[in-house]
Amino acid sequence: MARYTGATCRLCRREGLKLFLKGDRCHSDKCAFSRRGYAPGQHGQSRKKISNYGVQLREKQKAKRIYGVLESQFRTYYEKAERMRGITGENLLKLLELRLDNIVYRLGYGNSRKEARQLLTHGHFLVNGKKVDIPSYIVSADDVVSVCEKSRATEKFKVFAENPKTLPSWLTANPENFEGKVVSEPTRADIDVPVNETLIVELYSK
Ligand code: SF4
Repeated sequence: MARYTGATCRLCRREGLKLFLKGDRCHSDKCAFSRRGYAPGQHGQSRKKISNYGVQLREKQKAKRIYGVLESQFRTYYEKAERMRGITGENLLKLLELRLDNIVYRLGYGNSRKEARQLLTHGHFLVNGKKVDIPSYIVSADDVVSVCEKSRATEKFKVFAENPKTLPSWLTANPENFEGKVVSEPTRADIDVPVNETLIVELYSK
């Protein structure tokens, strides 16, 4: 399972906005983007005119980085989104939102998608009662995601359960039972990521 292993804060600086990839640190004074809100590298502070292609490319990179997906997998999502009914860009975001690591994060288990992904790969979660440790697993409407019995007693999971997150309308949670449910698939209006998916479609349609 390939994943990005380089400097994380560099990605926010490159995209020119906070992507919230590091949990609590992102809300603290230590946030690298708050301290140096310009692109990394020797020419990071110089003004550059960006082409149409550059704008589209940056939008794709931003989406990949928010969800922690590498290029080949992102391209696969795009191809799948193209084959689905409806608007390709919206389908793409919907697929990314329905990844199991994102659901675990949305349910409040993990301060970042990266942490949620790690908890998941360590085998702490069940989908409809069956253990699943694949971050890219796509959940469906009515699926129930829960913490496995053994992990519920650990301090980490107790803290997560005691501090529930605000959920999007398409998810419900029952923190006492360490579980959440996908009520329906998200619509574009439900997805709060700062991405213009139309630009990604334009890029891949060339
Ligand atoms: Fe981005 Fe968080 Fe690093 Fe700030 S602390 S630059 S928001 S990953």
